[in-house]
Amino acid sequence: PMEITLQNPQTADFSEPEKDVAASASLPPPPPTLSEDKVLVSVEVCLKPSSTARIDDVRSAVERMLEKRSLSYIDGPIPVPLDDPFLKENVQRICICDTDEWVQNHEVLLFWQVKPVVHAFQLSEEGSCEDLSGDGQLSSFNEWILPAKEFDGMWESLIYESGLKQRLLRYAASALLFTDKGVDPFLVSWNRIILLHGPPGTGKTSLCKALAQKLSIRFNSRYPQCQLVEVNAHSLFSKWFSESGKLVAKLFQKIQEMVDEEDNLVFVLIDEVESLAAARKAALSGSEPSDSIRVVNALLTQMDKLKSSPNVIILTTSNITAAIDIAFVDRADIKAYVGPPTLQARYEILRSCLQELVRKEILSSFQDCENNILPNYATMKEKLNMPEMQEVKTPFLLCKKLLEAAEACEGLSGRSLRKLPFLAHAALSNPYDCDPSGFLCTMIDTARRELSEL
Ligand code: ADP
Repeated sequence: PMEITLQNPQTADFSEPEKDVAASASLPPPPPTLSEDKVLVSVEVCLKPSSTARIDDVRSAVERMLEKRSLSYIDGPIPVPLDDPFLKENVQRICICDTDEWVQNHEVLLFWQVKPVVHAFQLSEEGSCEDLSGDGQLSSFNEWILPAKEFDGMWESLIYESGLKQRLLRYAASALLFTDKGVDPFLVSWNRIILLHGPPGTGKTSLCKALAQKLSIRFNSRYPQCQLVEVNAHSLFSKWFSESGKLVAKLFQKIQEMVDEEDNLVFVLIDEVESLAAARKAALSGSEPSDSIRVVNALLTQMDKLKSSPNVIILTTSNITAAIDIAFVDRADIKAYVGPPTLQARYEILRSCLQELVRKEILSSFQDCENNILPNYATMKEKLNMPEMQEVKTPFLLCKKLLEAAEACEGLSGRSLRKLPFLAHAALSNPYDCDPSGFLCTMIDTARRELSEL
């Protein structure tokens, strides 16, 4: 599989963005023909919550700013130019995305190799609006206006190898483009159903939400409004079966209203779709009230109807990898297996946890680390393979310990990994004064204990 560098924008080592790299003598001069083989790189611009500027105006201003600068392009934040009063007033942050697809380890894309595509957006702070159907019932769905503040940073925090996230993003983007251009489905067929399957705790639900958030940002020129509806399949099989039929009807009536607005992009997320198939089976065998089969069938029929609408993307997850007996997912074009984190992913997840604890001053700072940033997996590997390893500075000794911790965590899910630093902290004898190295030792012990209890 392709070797990719996994970097989190919050923690990415960003190499002096302001420097005019083309002017530096060690770099090759720009090639004479630029236009054809430029790489498209997304630049996401988040407006301040207080900003009332038009998104289009902000986008144009950033485009002009980028034209004037000779940046090197690597995933991560770039400073908002303080000499531009309009941007300074309205922009919270500017982030370069997706370059890791193009660059091999340590290389950077230089401005003349890149065509930046600017996406400006403002996060919705409304939060989720649950449908409280009263009567003390579980709500049957949650709804968010995207891009939502709650999902900010989620995409970057999910770490996978072999370009899984990029592949998903590209698939979904192509599906939306085909639909928007009105490609005849009899001539070229595709659908907008995504199924992520794999063991529990591998981040499937989070990845669906993060993908919806990303697409809402990337497609906001075409779809200025965007919503995510999370259907609580379990709640539909509550003991109030007689009510469930009504709940499904109400839910889909609401979704239909959203979809009828053609400038609206709607994501419908159904977690653990296998529970629908299981409920239907149980109903058929008589072990569940026969009402439930009507509910499941109603839901499936509605989903089937919905998928023909051009502005809907259906996101589903499943913890089982075997075929799922549900008509609307068995034809999913995008089926991706989401596996347990590999060594590299475990290293990067734990690295991002440590970075956060140092940022929040729970751990003391990393000694000798430039900008207090631990080297990423690729850099660490390279250094550890060097023969003169004995002389290598402290950061790499710490990295070695981190690698040891990542190795000790084989078998833990991404969800358990993100909890591990917390458990380790609670196990410290002196939690108010801890250095990263001692903390890593405790974390390794904690991981071994967790694994022995699995
Ligand atoms: P699933 O739906 O597969 O059960 P979730 O989306 O509920 O998993 O994941 C729970 C949490 O575990 C996520 O919010 C995330 O913090 C963490 N997590 C799981 N897998 C990863 C990963 N590959 N990289 C980073 N974090 C992960």
